[in-house]
Amino acid sequence: MKAIVKTRAGEGQLELKDWPEPAPAVDEIKLRIAYAGICGTDIHIIKGEWPCKPPVVLGHEFCGTVVEIGQGIRYFKPGDRVVASNPAQTCGTCSSCRAGNPFMCAQRISAGYMIDGAFAEYLCIREERCHHLPDNVSFRQAALGEPLSVAVRAVTERTTVHSGDLVLVSGPGCVGILTMLMAKLEGATVIVTGTAKDQQRLVCAKERGADVVVDISRENPLEVVRHYSHGVGADVVYECAGVAASLDMCWEAVKREGTLVPVGIYSGPINTDFNKVTMKDLRVIGSFGYVWTSWQRSIRLLSERKVNLEGLISHELPLSRFEDAFRWSQDGSAIKVVLNPAMV
Ligand SMILES: [Zn+2]
Ligand SMILES: [Zn+2]
Repeated sequence: MKAIVKTRAGEGQLELKDWPEPAPAVDEIKLRIAYAGICGTDIHIIKGEWPCKPPVVLGHEFCGTVVEIGQGIRYFKPGDRVVASNPAQTCGTCSSCRAGNPFMCAQRISAGYMIDGAFAEYLCIREERCHHLPDNVSFRQAALGEPLSVAVRAVTERTTVHSGDLVLVSGPGCVGILTMLMAKLEGATVIVTGTAKDQQRLVCAKERGADVVVDISRENPLEVVRHYSHGVGADVVYECAGVAASLDMCWEAVKREGTLVPVGIYSGPINTDFNKVTMKDLRVIGSFGYVWTSWQRSIRLLSERKVNLEGLISHELPLSRFEDAFRWSQDGSAIKVVLNPAMV
């Protein structure tokens, strides 16, 4: 089968290759990939900033149709439409696994960087990571199930946003826009900030319901926050850019005794004014990945049309155009790029 493979460690090293088609283990189902999304983690992997075990097929956000099942599979059959989450392999016995948070398992092995992922025609994944897709949720919407679950986790499970709160989302990438959508569903007023290269993403955020969008190259975001909060600051701030300058701005924007949530991932250690946590009596809450309930919520939100993700996919491309796909994902010209392995 065709697959996009990171062949060696370091920057770049990507190739479209003929790759062995996987066969399902006893507890796995084999999916024909319908869509696989490109996300910030993939960009970190391409730049060599993220641990990975080459040669490995990239891609960890995906959905598809069951084509074959392992002997121990109980809940899925060929033909089922499925959306599935990483982590692909976990120990199953540590306290995080037992508590239902496999992302925190120290033995976690994720598809798409440690073992073969979804930028390919087929992928095998453990049954326990799979969710049935309701008939009324398209594969295109399901392709965004993973980033939606990240936003659901950050906004509704890790933190509490109250109706009437002022929320700031810094970084209008896909997760940032979805975080805005979730905060809007909770009843907040939401400001989204981005840089000059984020024009298109800011327009998209505004179209999808952000109350205010700010291009920080033209307007001081702190003045906007002061204006909308009558000088107090934002109740909850989600840092979704994964950039130190963004975090610096977030420390200033959050109100005293407010909540700051780093969702974005930095490319390495950063220098920032951590005294703000103490001096402003802040709550700083990390949010990484998702748990089972985040997915159940995401799928229900899609099925009940509480969120509509169609407009977030800016490009749908075949595997052969992976270079364009990664370039556009990095330079801000795309909101979300999905790869469609059936497309030529
Ligand atoms: Zn991702
Ligand atoms: Zn574990």
